[in-house]
Amino acid sequence: MELPSKLLENAVNEISQLPGIGKRTALRLALHLLRQPGSQTSMLSQALEKMRNEIQYCNECHNISDAEICKICESPTRDASIICVVEDVRDVMAIEGTGSFKGVYHVLGGKINPIEGIGPSQLNISTLVSKVKERDITEIIFALSSTMEGDTTNFYIYKQLKDYPVLTSTIARGIAIGDELEYADEVTLGRSLMHRIPFEQSIRQV
Ligand SMILES: [Zn+2]
Repeated sequence: MELPSKLLENAVNEISQLPGIGKRTALRLALHLLRQPGSQTSMLSQALEKMRNEIQYCNECHNISDAEICKICESPTRDASIICVVEDVRDVMAIEGTGSFKGVYHVLGGKINPIEGIGPSQLNISTLVSKVKERDITEIIFALSSTMEGDTTNFYIYKQLKDYPVLTSTIARGIAIGDELEYADEVTLGRSLMHRIPFEQSIRQV
């Protein structure tokens, strides 16, 4: 695609780095911005830069936050003794969308995946184990997607926790194997949280 301007080409190249955006879409977006008042582009670039530079991760649960402690962890209405373990922040949003969970979260930041070189030490696992050691935690709910990596991660954490007096459970598999949590509909996800089963039982089924 021959573009009439190097400046336009640079912008198109940058926009097309985003996932799901090909060169054609990038060009359409760039031309759209050119047709709008300059202030819109300024606001867009400022918002992106501010997000990138100022966003924080909650010191408690590793969720994305505008402050050191996120709104969920800070809320007095949440039960901090029940922790739902999820892969990433999109899962927090999906479960929050169900409105059926009143505990708090722990965001791992990924799943154990030896093929991609992701081991337990690269994930937020040690902070979860510390919480169970040091606080009065009654239940840990595993809500990772039911892929092999998800199961490996659940089992790894389960082994770390099994000497502590904490109940471990996993969300019921209303969700088909391999479905990612964020795509599950809210009713199914809410139901699978409600009908969670003890973790030991889930590994016996395998
Ligand atoms: Zn938090």
